[in-house]
Amino acid sequence: MLGKYINIIGTKYKVRKCKDMDDVDTTGERRSLCGQISYSDGTISVYEDKNNLDDFHDTILHEVFHGVANHLFRNRPDIMQVLSDESIVDPLVSSYRDTLERNNLVKWTMVKEGKKNAKKKEVSKKRCKGSCAI
Ligand SMILES: [Zn+2]
Repeated sequence: MLGKYINIIGTKYKVRKCKDMDDVDTTGERRSLCGQISYSDGTISVYEDKNNLDDFHDTILHEVFHGVANHLFRNRPDIMQVLSDESIVDPLVSSYRDTLERNNLVKWTMVKEGKKNAKKKEVSKKRCKGSCAI
């Protein structure tokens, strides 16, 4: 179960679950977002729609991906430019999650009953908007 912190390669990020997409953005710009990771604040903010846990899980994995990329490649702007491109990150994260789930390598603790037999979603599904804050 998702706790108050996510540890990414030894760095703890505080998890902020937001009930409103307008509360996710910590930059002060008040953009409406599903997720955001702030490296300077050490926070991952996620819009928590209890009726759509798939998107909630995707958003968490998406922000963790940004965090891993930042930790590994922060001194490589050429790589970071590619790994900050949402059109690259979204299908990578969705495909990674799909692979984990299809091979029973991950079990979400927040999966609703009745979803177990649900057809796997398309990996190219368009996500709502996220952001990285430096
Ligand atoms: Zn992103």
